[in-house]
Amino acid sequence: MCRHLAYLGPPVALATVLYDPPHSLSRQSWAPRDMRGGGTINADGFGVGWYPPPAAGGAGTPIRYRRAQPMWSDTTLPDLAVSTTTGAVLAAVRSATVGMPVLEVAAAPFAEGRWLFSHNGVVRDWPDSVLGLAADLPVRDLLTLDAPTDSALLWALVRHRLRAGGDPARAVADTVTRVASAAPGSRLNLLLTDGRQVVASVAGHALSARVDGDAVLLASEPVDDHPEWWAVPDGHLLVATADGVRTHALTP
Ligand code: GLN
Repeated sequence: MCRHLAYLGPPVALATVLYDPPHSLSRQSWAPRDMRGGGTINADGFGVGWYPPPAAGGAGTPIRYRRAQPMWSDTTLPDLAVSTTTGAVLAAVRSATVGMPVLEVAAAPFAEGRWLFSHNGVVRDWPDSVLGLAADLPVRDLLTLDAPTDSALLWALVRHRLRAGGDPARAVADTVTRVASAAPGSRLNLLLTDGRQVVASVAGHALSARVDGDAVLLASEPVDDHPEWWAVPDGHLLVATADGVRTHALTP
């Protein structure tokens, strides 16, 4: 299953998040430690979205770089990552669920406006289990799904709530609980950020967190062996802001 991460904190080079740690996201693309039976490597594309710091002219809208190839084989991102500074990142490496296409548009992060979104997991009995939930979306959203994948539908469900002015934590919690009840056994670890806060669900997959001063890093797998990593318990929602990290039981 895919690996994803989010960083929020003082501006750093992208490389310090993506490449430099001993068990970095780049390494997790070919040597993940905790795939829980969902594939062996994350070779079906990758993506990174980041927010340019306000001092560098950033207006709150993220920039994305995605490819439908393994992260380890990309020769552009390493240089970009060394020379790009940012205080908020969402990145993912993908292991496509069997039957789902390997396309750049299917690689997280999905984006709209200031939002970035990622899904680590699978919707069980796709697509029949979630036909009823999809039917609640505007037809236009279904005709313009980013990709014909479970993750793209989850993004459309979350985005629908955000467009209506919904609270981001509630949008994630409601989507996870409704999909979990329609499709039991699904794995629904989501990440959502606007560059100022990160909302993460832990539902069927691992997520670890590390707070270091005013920086927070969330990752499917710890990127190093630092003792301060802690595993967010399953069935929880985590909200990270500049003020710290809060966790709640995952309820609608
Ligand atoms: N099911 C999603 C996809 O195919 C996510 C896969 C994953 O977490 N490995 O893109």
